[in-house]
Order: sequence, then structure tokens, then C-alpha cells
Amino acid sequence: MHAEAKKLGKTGLVWLRRDLRVHDHPALAESLKDNDTTYVVFVFDSEVLNPIRKYTTVDTRLHFIAESLAEIQQELNKAGGQLIVLEGNPITEIPELVTQLGVDTLYFNRDYAPYATDRDAYVSKAIQDQGKLVRDFRDHVCMEPNDVLNLQGLPYKVFTPYSKAWKKTLSEQKSEPDYTVKLTKLGETDKYPILDTVEALLDLAGFQSSPAYLKGGSQAGLTRLQQFAPYLGQYKANRDFPALDKTSMLSVYIRHGCISVRDMLSLAMSESNVGAETWLNELIWREFYQMIAYHYPHVKGHTFQEKYRDLEFPYDEQLLQAWKDGMTGFPIVDAAMRCFNETGWMHNRLRMVVSSFFCKILLLDWRHGERYFRLGLLDYEFASNNGGWQWAAGTGCDAAPYFRIFNPTTQSQKFDKEGKFIRQWCPELNALDNKSIHEPHAPNNSSSSLFIGNYPAPIVDYKSRRQEALALYKSVQP
Ligand SMILES: Cc1cc2nc3c(=O)[nH]c(=O)nc-3n(C[C@H](O)[C@H](O)[C@H](O)COP(=O)(O)OP(=O)(O)OC[C@H]3O[C@@H](n4cnc5c(N)ncnc54)[C@H](O)[C@@H]3O)c2cc1C
Repeated sequence: MHAEAKKLGKTGLVWLRRDLRVHDHPALAESLKDNDTTYVVFVFDSEVLNPIRKYTTVDTRLHFIAESLAEIQQELNKAGGQLIVLEGNPITEIPELVTQLGVDTLYFNRDYAPYATDRDAYVSKAIQDQGKLVRDFRDHVCMEPNDVLNLQGLPYKVFTPYSKAWKKTLSEQKSEPDYTVKLTKLGETDKYPILDTVEALLDLAGFQSSPAYLKGGSQAGLTRLQQFAPYLGQYKANRDFPALDKTSMLSVYIRHGCISVRDMLSLAMSESNVGAETWLNELIWREFYQMIAYHYPHVKGHTFQEKYRDLEFPYDEQLLQAWKDGMTGFPIVDAAMRCFNETGWMHNRLRMVVSSFFCKILLLDWRHGERYFRLGLLDYEFASNNGGWQWAAGTGCDAAPYFRIFNPTTQSQKFDKEGKFIRQWCPELNALDNKSIHEPHAPNNSSSSLFIGNYPAPIVDYKSRRQEALALYKSVQP
């Protein structure tokens, strides 16, 4: 078995998961330093993909991943190596590969999601049982879930004190080790084909080609980082206006590790102004939610706050469908949902508007909204999505209080004043003036009735639903 692998001396295997890049990479840099030969592997995880395959073979996220892997394959090939790509359950695939290649040490970067921690513990034990070594590294976050705790040694539940402690810990940290990757001493084996096209990779995963709104890979991620850099100083002023499109759009790249957290952090620290400070806070929100999901795993499927456990949202299939279809009669909500359905992307201000509307005006259970986003968001990340939905529902840690209910019309008037975003996604409203476009069916609109075509009237009455929401939430207050 070992004969076909070209290897010498000590051998490392780097297992890529949500770190799809070959620069600034702790596991890869350390393996290349420690070993005479380094192999690199990625496994299309059947445990994750089987549930998706049951309902579709088209998923832009898989296309994004395949693009990222094709780029890595080409980089490793150029340096005389190969990305081994497997399909199956990593619990068996990785230990088998370690045996086949005669690997001495397995290297990976840590992942804190509940499924991943269980999987990694299992794989690590299997490797150690073979008498081999396992080395794992912090990579996906600047602060791991236990790095920032309160004075009692407990995890924080509120963002502001967490973020202060996060910044203090960062300032006290020794400088990061150098994870610069020099691609040499790479292993290759003819046992596995070199899959270097998106199509071949998708084929192995069992999916069809379906390009995403954003291109996968480090080159695309680093280019986006550079494109965003000149706007960092204006981030606070720009970030709430969807038509401006001046947030970084890096969430999908950091989700899959096409860029590193250190790439993002060094941009955030490169300037000293309110824009950079605000952007740094967003990076900390990401780590806050990861810490919450790690320490409070009950947030999967349950409210973070105990007092809301028994809150029963009435279910209404028609309202749910209208929200999904972007046919609620509230233009900013509909434009956001149509954008999401077509691209898998939604601006943060709009995620807040549509989720608040979902929970507190349509009175639908946040778990249905969370699921719909899970199925479609290109940057889907359990911790941030769950955190965002529970924030909107008022059931989460540090969530919007139950009586804070976004009015979609005033949000629209404020953040899409001229209706540019609405016009882009609800073209049937294009001819309306800048006032009517926010409320096409309002009786006092002069221009509307002539121009709104089949655009629906509001499916609920905002004011009365708001009162119902307040009553519902009050009913479970202690
Ligand atoms: C209901 C809801 C669901 C969400 N689901 C997800 C999700 O599945 N995946 C996801 O990455 N983000 C999610 N978010 C957070 C946020 O909307 C996105 O991270 C952001 O819109 C991504 O755009 P950007 O990269 O341009 O962000 P920027 O504004 O440029 O921010 C920089 C980075 O900070 C992080 N970030 C920004 N805002 C938040 C936030 N509120 N919470 C956590 N991290 C944040 C992201 O990694 C982002 O790339 C959700 C928010 C809500 C309200």
C-alpha cells in the first residue's frame, strides 16, 4: 500500500475542513516545518451532505467549496504536491488514509461546532490508538471559547463586556506565531486522482455545477478584502444602506477559511478610526456567537433565555410562504427575500428587518426562519445564524428586548430612502415615486394604484400585529 506513495522520513497529513487556503495556515505551516513529507486531504463529509442530497443536487455552497478546492489543488500541484479529495465519513476515511500513507502525525485547525468537536475527538482517538500523533491549532477565531471568560471564570452572556474583555485579551496576547506557508516537501500519491476542475470535484461530491453569487477561493477572498479596505474608515456611516453595498461581503470567505481571521484582524487594526472600530466589533460579534453556541449548546432548537421556552408562536402556512416568496406587501421585506432567494446573499440590515418582521409581526416561530436561512444562505454559519434569529425573536443572549419591534416601513424610509434597493428586486414598483415606494398601497399615495401591477397589499395589518406580539411576549414574562 505504501509503495505507491512518494515519501521520505517523517510524514504529516493536513486535514482541511473550514480552512480552504494555503496561506497563513497553522496546521499546514507546522506540518511543513515538522515533516519530511506533507500530504493534504479534504473529505466531502457524507454526514453533512447526505441530508442535502435527499432534496437537491444543486447547491451554490458546494460550487463555492469546489472552486476553493480546485484553486488549492492547482497551488499544491505547482509545488509538486496534491490535494487528496475523498468522499465519505471522515471518522473512517481519515484513520484509513493515515494508515495507507504511513502518516506519523495528523494536523488540523480546530472547529468548535458541536458536530465537529465530536467528530474530531473520535478521529483523534482513532489516530492515537494507532500510536500516531495528532496536533491541532487555533485558526478559525482570534479568541477560542474559553479564552475570554468573566471574573468568575464563566462565559459571558452579554456582548459589550465580552467585547471589552476580548480586546483586553488581544492586547495582552503575545504576538501570533508565524504561520507563513512555504510549499515544499509535499507528498503525492497515484492512489488518488488529481481532481483539479470544479466539475470533477462536484462530481465526487454528487452535486451539479451551480455557480454562486460570489466566487470561491483565496484569490477572490483576498481581492474582496483589498476592495473593501479603502471603505473601512466609512464603514460605520455606510453599513446600514443595502443599496450602497459597502460592507465587506467577506462572511462566506471567512466561513470557509479562504481568508484567515488574521487577514481580517490585521485590516481592522490597520486604521484607528470609528469605521475600523465598528468593523472590529462585527468580527467580535462573530466570535461572541461562536462562544455562545459552544458553551450553551441548547441554543440549537431551544431559546437561550429560559423564560421564553414556553412561548408559542401561532403557525400560519400562508404567511410563512408569502415571506419566503417575497410577497408580503411590505416592499423592503419582499426585496430582501427576493434578493436572498436569487443570490443566497442578504445585507445585514435586511437580515435584521426580515427576521424581526418574521417573529414579531408575522408571529412565526424563529426556528422556521432560521431553517429557511440555513438552507439558502451562502455564508450559513450555525452560530451566527442562530444568534441572529434569537436576537430578532428576543429570545437570545443580549437580544433585542421583546418590545423592540422594527417597523419595516420606517426602516425602509430610513435605509433605502430613494427605494433603490426595492426597485432592483421589486421591478413592478419601479415607477413609484420615492415616497409611495415604501408603502405602495397606502391610501394617501397619489401615484400608486396606477403602477403597482400584481404587487400584493400588505398581508397583515402592522399596527394590530404589533399589539398582538406585545401581548404574546408579555404573557410569558415572569
Ligand atoms: C437573522 C440573521 C442571520 C444571520 N446569519 C448569518 C450566517 O448564517 N452567517 C454569517 O456569517 N452571518 C450571519 N449573520 C450576521 C451578518 O448578517 C453577516 O455576517 C453579514 O451580513 C455578512 O456581511 P459582510 O461580510 O459584508 O459583513 P461586514 O459588515 O463586513 O462584517 C465583517 C464580518 O463580521 C462578521 N459579522 C458581521 N456582522 C455579524 C453579526 N451580526 N453576527 C455575527 N458575525 C457578524 C462576519 O463574519 C462578517 O463577514 C446573520 C444575521 C442575522 C440578523
